[in-house]
Amino acid sequence: MPRIAIVDNEKLKDLQQKHYIAGICPVNRTGKECIKVEADGKLSIDEHLCTGCGICPKAAPLAIKIINLPEELAKKPVHRYGENKFILYSVPTPGLGKVTGILGVNGIGKSTAIKILAGAVKPNFGDWTSAETDYDQLIEFFKGSEAQGFFEKIKKGEIKVAYKPQQVDLIPKTTKGKVIDLLKKVDEKNELKKISNELQLNDVLNNDISEISGGELQRAAIAATVLKNADLYIFDEPTSYLDIKQRINVSRFIKAMINENNSVLVVEHDLVILDYICDLVHLMYGKEDAYGIVSGVKPVRNGINVYLGGYIKEENVRFRDSKIKFAEKPPIKKKHTKEAITSWENVEKKLGNFTLKSGKGSIHKNEIIGILGENGTGKTTFVKILASVLKQDKGEISHKVKVSYKPQYLEVSDELVVDVLKNAFHKYENQIVHPLNIVQLSLKKLNELSGGELQKVAIAYCLQNDADLYLLDEPSAYLDSEQRLILSKVIRDFIEHKGVSALIVDHDLLFIDYISDKLIVFEGKPAIEGNVTGPFDMEDGMNKFLKELGITLRRDPETNRPRVNKLDSRLDREQKESGKYYYA
Ligand code: SF4
Repeated sequence: MPRIAIVDNEKLKDLQQKHYIAGICPVNRTGKECIKVEADGKLSIDEHLCTGCGICPKAAPLAIKIINLPEELAKKPVHRYGENKFILYSVPTPGLGKVTGILGVNGIGKSTAIKILAGAVKPNFGDWTSAETDYDQLIEFFKGSEAQGFFEKIKKGEIKVAYKPQQVDLIPKTTKGKVIDLLKKVDEKNELKKISNELQLNDVLNNDISEISGGELQRAAIAATVLKNADLYIFDEPTSYLDIKQRINVSRFIKAMINENNSVLVVEHDLVILDYICDLVHLMYGKEDAYGIVSGVKPVRNGINVYLGGYIKEENVRFRDSKIKFAEKPPIKKKHTKEAITSWENVEKKLGNFTLKSGKGSIHKNEIIGILGENGTGKTTFVKILASVLKQDKGEISHKVKVSYKPQYLEVSDELVVDVLKNAFHKYENQIVHPLNIVQLSLKKLNELSGGELQKVAIAYCLQNDADLYLLDEPSAYLDSEQRLILSKVIRDFIEHKGVSALIVDHDLLFIDYISDKLIVFEGKPAIEGNVTGPFDMEDGMNKFLKELGITLRRDPETNRPRVNKLDSRLDREQKESGKYYYA
C-alpha cells in the first residue's frame, strides 16, 4: 500500500524530542534509518522504509502524519512541495465557454492546483529537487486527459491566463497608489469605465489602495483581472468580504463575461453562490495539509449534491461519514409561551452621517435568529447595542440577559489558544473543541493562526462563556464550506442543549438558511441609514430580503438545499408573480 509521511518541523519542540522520536521507530531499531534527524536539525521520514506502525504520529500528533493512500495513488503526483510535505495528484480542467467551480476543504490543494494552471507554480511531479518543468513534460504527464489539450494550447501560446488571487488583503502590501492607476495599468480591453461601473467602484477610483475596505479591494481585484485580455480567467474566492447583494452582483458579472472562446475557473466556499455562478464543478478531496485529488468534472447541481452526500460513486470515494440534509419546509412558527429574553423598541443611534433606527422586536428563549442585510446598514452597530458595547441615543432595550459577543473583526495577541479557551477545553470538549478541530491549534499563539483558525477560536471563545444570548458577527468568514456546515450544526446543538438563544449575522445564504429559526432584515442605504425590521419567521423574512435583492430561491429536490433560480426563468417569473421569493 502506498504511504506518505507529512512532517511539520515547526511543531516539533527541540532536538531532544526529535532524537527521541527517531529512537522509538521500530525500523530504526533494526539499524535502518527510517526516521532521520538531518544535519540542519530537521526530522525526516523515509516513506519507503516506514511500515505505518503508527508509533511516531502518536508521539507527536500535531507534527507527524502517516497516511496510507488508496492503491490507485501509487502513481506519480503532479506536485510535491518538498520532502514529507503536501502532495497534489491531479489538476482541474477548465471547460471552453463554461464556468467551472472547484469545491473542497481548506488545505486540500485548491490554490496550488489553480496556480499550476495559471503558470504561477511549476509542477515538479514529485521531484522537488528538479529544475523547472517544461510544458512537454506537462503534456506527457496528462496524456489522454482533457488537461493534455489545455497544456498543449498553453505551450503554443494559445491560452493567456488572468488570475485573481485568494488573499486580496495582501494586495496593499505589494501594490501602491490609487485604485484608478492600478486599473489603468492592466486595462488591455479599454473598458475601465464600464467595468468599474458594473462592479460599483466609481466612488473609490481616486482612493489609495491602502485605504479601501476589504469588499472594495475584492471588487478592484476582480476588475483588474477582467480588464486583461485572456482566454482563461481564474477567480480564487471572489466573494469573501462581500455582502449578499454584492455576491449576487459579482456572480452575475462573472457569468456574463463567459463566451464560446474563453473559460472561467472559480474557487468558492459559499455554496449558493458557487451553484449560481458555475456550469460545472470539480470536487477536491484527500487529507487536509497532506494530499489532494481532483475528481472528474460534474454538472454543478450534481457535483454539489455529491459533495453534501459525502460519497463519489464513480470514484468509489467516501470523504464524509454522514450526509448533509436540509429541512424540507421552513421551521414551523414557534408559539412563545415564555417571556422574551430581550426586547427593543424604537432604538436610534447616530454615528457620524449614519443613522440606525429600529421598530419593535424581541428574542425568545431557545431561538436562533439570522440577521441579513447589506454592508453599511448597521448590523454590527445594532449587535453592539444589544451587547451593551455601544449605547443607543434613543429607545428602549430590556437588558434582562447576559450576552456573549463574537465581533466581526478578530483581535490577535501572543496568548496561547489553550489558555484563551480554558473553559471550552474543560467544559465543552465534545460539543465545541473536537467538532471544530481546535485541539491541534492548542499550542499555537493567537497571532500565529490563519484566518479560518482564528475564526474557530473566536467562536469557541464566545460560546465558552456563560450567557443567555450569544451574538455571532460573521462566523462563516474565512471558513470553507465543510467547516461552515459543521459550524452550523455545532451552534444549533449548543443553543438547543443549553436552552439559550443566538443572533447570527452572516452573508452566506445557505448557512443562514440552515441555522436560523427566524430572521431580522436590515434595510436602508449603506453608510447613510439602516432600519432594523423583524424578527420574522423564515418565510416572511426571506421573502422580504430576496424581493429586495431581486432573486428567487427554490429547493433542490434531492438535498433540500436552497438554489437561486435563473433570472427570468419560468420558475423565477412564477415565484415573483406569486410573491414566493423564498421557495414555492
Ligand atoms: Fe517509524 Fe513509520 Fe512507525 Fe513512524 S510510523 S515509527 S516512521 S515505522
